[in-house]
Amino acid sequence: MSIRPIYLDSHATTPVDERVLAAMLPYFIEKFGNPSSISHIYGWEAEAAVKQTREILAAAINATPEEIVFTSGATEANNLAIKGVAEAYFQKGQHIITVATEHKAVLDPCAYLKTLGFEITILPVQKDGLIDLTELEKAFRPETILVSVMAANNEIGVLQPLEAIGEMCRDRNIIFHTDAAQAIGKIPLDVQTLKIDLMSLTAHKVYGPKGIGALYVRRRNPRVQLAPQQHGGGHERGMRSGTLYTPQIVGFGKAVEIALAEQATENPRLRSLRQRLWEQLSPLEGIHLNGHPTQRLAGNLNISIEGVDGAALGLGLQPVMAVSSGSACTSANTAPSHVLTALGNSEQLAYASVRFGIGRFTTQEEIDTVAKHAIATIQSLRKQTTLV
Ligand SMILES: *Cc1c(COP(=O)(O)O)cnc(C)c1O
Repeated sequence: MSIRPIYLDSHATTPVDERVLAAMLPYFIEKFGNPSSISHIYGWEAEAAVKQTREILAAAINATPEEIVFTSGATEANNLAIKGVAEAYFQKGQHIITVATEHKAVLDPCAYLKTLGFEITILPVQKDGLIDLTELEKAFRPETILVSVMAANNEIGVLQPLEAIGEMCRDRNIIFHTDAAQAIGKIPLDVQTLKIDLMSLTAHKVYGPKGIGALYVRRRNPRVQLAPQQHGGGHERGMRSGTLYTPQIVGFGKAVEIALAEQATENPRLRSLRQRLWEQLSPLEGIHLNGHPTQRLAGNLNISIEGVDGAALGLGLQPVMAVSSGSACTSANTAPSHVLTALGNSEQLAYASVRFGIGRFTTQEEIDTVAKHAIATIQSLRKQTTLV
C-alpha cells in the first residue's frame, strides 16, 4: 500500500472504531431481524439492540429513551427539527432565529422556509465566533417560534453559550434547537440544564458509522410537536418512518458509549496535541487563529495564513496531510468559507486557511510531521510570491 497522507480532518468524518465495528457485525447476518417485527425472536433481538442504543443516547444527554428519534444523520435531524417545527407551529408564528456560522444543514432548511414565507433572522457572530447574547435578545419577536444555534462549530470548533441561550428561549416559550453533530461525545451535553428542546446528533464524527443519527425531541416541559418530514409505517412514534437500520444503530450506541467513557482522558490529550501544533506554527509571521482560543473543541485548530494563495497552499499540504483548507471546503463550491468570512476574515484570508481536526488516532509524531511540512510549505510559497 502506498503511503497515505496523515488524516487530520476529524470534523469531516472519523474512522469507525474497531470496537464499534465488532459490536455491529452480528446484526448484519445472524441478528438481522426487523426491530418492528413483534412476533418472533429475530425482531425481538433487533428491538432489544435498538432499545439499548436509545438508552445510551438518552443517558448521554440526560433525556429519556422515548425522546430519541433515529434519522440518517445530522442533516436529516436538522431538517426534521427545523421544517418539522415550522410546519407544526406556523399558526403560532413564522419567525425563526439562527446564526451565520451554522452548518448548511441548518442554513439551507431555513432558506427553504423563507421561500414559503417564513421570516429568518441570521445573527452575526463576534470576531471570536461566539454569538452576542444582546443581539439574540434584540432578535426575539412575539412571532418567534424557533431558535437554532449549534453546540460546536464544524470549522472553528467554537462552543456557543447554550445554557444562556436555552434560558432566554425558555423564558419566552420559544423552542430551542441545537445541532450537536460535532459535540456529542466530546463535551458534556445535558438537555435539562441547557434547556434544549431539540438536538441533532450523528455517529460518524465520533468514530461510529456513517448514515445514522438521531434527533432528541423533548416530550415534557414543554412537549415539542413536530410535523414528520418522511411518512410511512409510523416508526419512531410517527415522526420518522422507515425500517430502523439496526447495525448502524448498534454502532452509534457503542461509539457514544466509548466516547463518553474516554472523554475525560481524551480531551486533555487532544488539547495537548493541538497546543503542540500551535506552538510550532504560531511563531511564523502572519498566522491567525480563527475562533475563540479556549472555548472550542479540544481537537480543533483553524488558522488563516497571510501572504499565501489559498489554492497553492491546499495543493502544497495535500501530499503529507489530509486537512480541510479554505480553498476546498464544500467540494464543488469555490466561494470562501461562510464561517471564516462571518468572523470578519477577508476573502483572501478565508481561502488561505487550514482546519486541523485532531482525532482519536492522531499521534504526537504525526503532529510534528504535519507542523514541519506546513511550515516548509508556507515559507516556500511566501518566497515564491516575493520573487514574482
Ligand atoms: C457533519 C455535520 C452535519 C451533517 O451531519 P451528517 O450526519 O453527515 O448528515 C451537520 N452539522 C454539523 C455541525 C456537522 O458537523
